[in-house]
Amino acid sequence: MNNNNPHIIIIDDEKGLREGTKRLLEEENYTVDTAENGLKGIELIKKNDYDLAIIDLRMPDIEGTDVLKELKLYRPNTVSFIATAYASFETAVESTRLGAYSYIPKPFSPDELLHQLKQGYKQRLLLLEAERLKIEREKNLLEIAHEKSRLKTIIEAISSGVLLINKEGEVVYYNNATLHKLNIDRLNIGERIRGKLPDKIAAILDSFLVSDEYHDKSVTAQIEIIPQNRLVIDATFSPVPHPDGSFAGVVIVLKNITGFKQVEHIKNEFISMVAHELKTPIAAVLGYIKIILDDTIPVTYEQQHDFLSRSHIRLKSLLDLINDLLDISRMELKTKQREIQKIDIKEILESSLNLLEIEISKKRLEITTDIDYDLPELKADYAEISRVLLNLLSNAIKYNIENGKIFIKIHQSPNHLIIKVEDTGIGIKTDDKEKIFSEFFRAKNKFTRSISGTGLGLTIVKRIVESYHGKIDVESEYEKGTAFTIHLPINK
Ligand code: ADP
Repeated sequence: MNNNNPHIIIIDDEKGLREGTKRLLEEENYTVDTAENGLKGIELIKKNDYDLAIIDLRMPDIEGTDVLKELKLYRPNTVSFIATAYASFETAVESTRLGAYSYIPKPFSPDELLHQLKQGYKQRLLLLEAERLKIEREKNLLEIAHEKSRLKTIIEAISSGVLLINKEGEVVYYNNATLHKLNIDRLNIGERIRGKLPDKIAAILDSFLVSDEYHDKSVTAQIEIIPQNRLVIDATFSPVPHPDGSFAGVVIVLKNITGFKQVEHIKNEFISMVAHELKTPIAAVLGYIKIILDDTIPVTYEQQHDFLSRSHIRLKSLLDLINDLLDISRMELKTKQREIQKIDIKEILESSLNLLEIEISKKRLEITTDIDYDLPELKADYAEISRVLLNLLSNAIKYNIENGKIFIKIHQSPNHLIIKVEDTGIGIKTDDKEKIFSEFFRAKNKFTRSISGTGLGLTIVKRIVESYHGKIDVESEYEKGTAFTIHLPINK
């Protein structure tokens, strides 16, 4: 369409009228197409979106009303006029029923025609404007629908629970994560939620719904949903305002902080364990010193010597404990620089056995080694692998019996270097086997009472082995003996 130049089609088999009208309209700045029969008219209608159409009612090929039907189908916004010399009331009614804008009886005067077309063109412009508004409205609705579904997708994807409650305490919206965070099976939009909420959440919600004081601030609380730290959430309540600023409801964002709480719990337990382990030897040493210093208690030289050597043992074990703790902390914080180099496992074994020579001979232990001739090269930190072997060997000595035996086997599988340290010592009870790698765990039985240790050695061994993507296994029979096997991946 052209606003200045209305585009019109004249469909009429009467050549004189067709041409005459065309000339007249062109003089009035219309752009005019003509068709000499109904079918040609339809063809042109399909090609062009005319502003106006004048259709003769009686044509040799098809009726003007049929052309009108097609026009309505293809171009509903083209304003059409039915023109005929055989005007009758019925045809006029029928044409309007089919959607013609008006009816022009032939012959018509130029003024009459121009007046009618002018009215028709105004109608055409109105129709186009209405169409434009309709398209725009539909586009907006579509955009809103897209926006809504996009927001919904985002909120569903959030791992935190999002729960919207109106000021009547009814659920307005929630995402799936909400159900898990509150440990409930289902929620219904519109239901009053209070009864389904844990007491602490319900109480905070009440404060928001009842008191104005909460309408401009957020409140956060940590709530245990399943006891014993099995599900702990952090719930943040924020007021939701209406566009006019008045209070509309509350949004609660629920985050799972169970992992964090569990770590916090482990940390607290660890601190209290360390404190306990440090306190016992210090208290013992303090006790001995107090006796020695107390002039009112007669102490012989031998007794003094005994107290001092006991204190010495206690302090030495305290130092071992502190060194083990420092090792663990360095490993965790990764503050210790590793020096990865080619290491000779046989050499590490020999120097470890040398270091433990006195303890071995004190217990008169027999050491047997079975080492593959052609062991693969291991790339690792020398100090760490020494620490692993030294710990396993010193345990095999400490927890062995007099005249016991230790077998050391080092061999290789296609992908691993395998180190096995087996002893004929006191063994480990089945229940204790899975605990021996935990910090500070020391099996308590008739044999271990007199054996000192920190309970950290195997923790350190396991952490070192795992840091090389290796694994450690234990097989043991109480009062028979124990075997530790380590698999270290070979760097090919
Ligand atoms: P520590 O020897 O300082 O107590 P470890 O972490 O090295 O600490 O060992 C933890 C516990 O595992 C020991 O207290 C002991 O009960 C048990 N254990 C370790 N090695 C052996 C072994 N070879 N034979 C029997 N028990 C052992």
